[in-house]
Amino acid sequence: MEAVEILEERKVSIGRGKEGAGIRCDKNSVSGSVSQRACVYCGARVVLNPITDAFHIVHGPIGCASYTWDIRGSLSSGSELYRQSFSTDLREEDIVFGGTEKLTRAIDEAAEQYHPRLIFIYATCIVGVIGDDVEAVCRAAEKRHAIRVIPVKSPGFSGNKSFGYRMACNAIMELIRPHALPVGNAGRGVNILGDFNLAGEIWIIANYLKALGIPVVSTVTGDASYETLIRAPGAKLNLVQCAGSMTYLARRMEEEMGIPYIKVSFFGIGDTSSSLLRIAEALGDEPAREKAEAFCRKQEAALQPLVERYLPHLRGKKAAVYVGGGFKAISLIRQFTSLGMETVVVGTQTGQKEDYEIIGSLVGDDAVVLDDATPAELASFMREKGADILVGGVKERPLAYKLGIAFCDHNHERKHALAGYEGTAHFMREIHLSMNSPVWQFL
Ligand code: SF4
Repeated sequence: MEAVEILEERKVSIGRGKEGAGIRCDKNSVSGSVSQRACVYCGARVVLNPITDAFHIVHGPIGCASYTWDIRGSLSSGSELYRQSFSTDLREEDIVFGGTEKLTRAIDEAAEQYHPRLIFIYATCIVGVIGDDVEAVCRAAEKRHAIRVIPVKSPGFSGNKSFGYRMACNAIMELIRPHALPVGNAGRGVNILGDFNLAGEIWIIANYLKALGIPVVSTVTGDASYETLIRAPGAKLNLVQCAGSMTYLARRMEEEMGIPYIKVSFFGIGDTSSSLLRIAEALGDEPAREKAEAFCRKQEAALQPLVERYLPHLRGKKAAVYVGGGFKAISLIRQFTSLGMETVVVGTQTGQKEDYEIIGSLVGDDAVVLDDATPAELASFMREKGADILVGGVKERPLAYKLGIAFCDHNHERKHALAGYEGTAHFMREIHLSMNSPVWQFL
């Protein structure tokens, strides 16, 4: 396979080694370049869909509603309502005459049959084109049914996936703002922002915090419900895990509610331990910090024999990483380094300048760093660098398999946890089995 010819406008989004720190990022995709990113609506849905007792109505053609729980396997300890997908199924006639009546009927039917306390209405591309007044419909429905009906302004063409995250965060703020405490009334405990409870990961992290005596006030949005979300303004500290989607919400909560935030990561032994210690320190909770030190030492020691078992199978291998946010990419680079592996290609869909600065400082001089990659670019660089495994999501999986490269799903569809100490054990096992599978010799 020959090296791909990079579009002139894309060259500034790709760098080698330390140059990666200064690549163009956080911008709309280049026209004519096939992006691996999803649209604005998908970005918003990805954040809000895990709210378990919310009713999610997609106002648009039925195709947009194909984004369902099935491709976002977050788990619930309560309601299963979020696993349904509802659409106004806009047709040609609705495009001509407007879709607000249909939307009103859909909300009324949902409210009368299912009695949810919270409904999200997602505006898709066509709604942005025909100009349905979704906000007015939501306001009227809130009065009629005495529940929250919140518009999510997410026409697919109105920006990039990051903009969709922002629209979802605005919807969450609209929900929780009426429950804010007066600024200066410091709450207790923490909110976990940007964990979507894939394979129950939020329960793993909450258990660690419980062991340190730190209460979890609310989770945004994994395993969340209307009742737990409105408690979020009562926390003392926000923990931002998926920085790409949740830093905006954390900043707004800091500015408008006085709740500070720190970024944390629970991918890999080092990042898990340092995050737990930093949380206790940020809370100014000395007993929790002492407990964290002992807890982390114990967990690390328990995992060490497994690390030693996998190390000989992993050492010297080369990894490519293409994930949603920059913070996860950083954790993965550190995790691979700790396992004796080299990250030779690394990219993200929504990484920020500060993420790429860290990435540039972590990778080797010749590693390829790229933002908003096309499949052709990814394939070409993985071949050039001789990657043994690609870590990515659903859209990257076929790419790896077509190239005969091992793959590890680190995104929405997986069924096993990759966070925390338990997740690290799963991760080592998965990448070992995938890279060292005998199947590759038959290619
Ligand atoms: S909102 Fe637009 S880009 Fe997104 S899925 Fe619907 S039609 Fe496609």
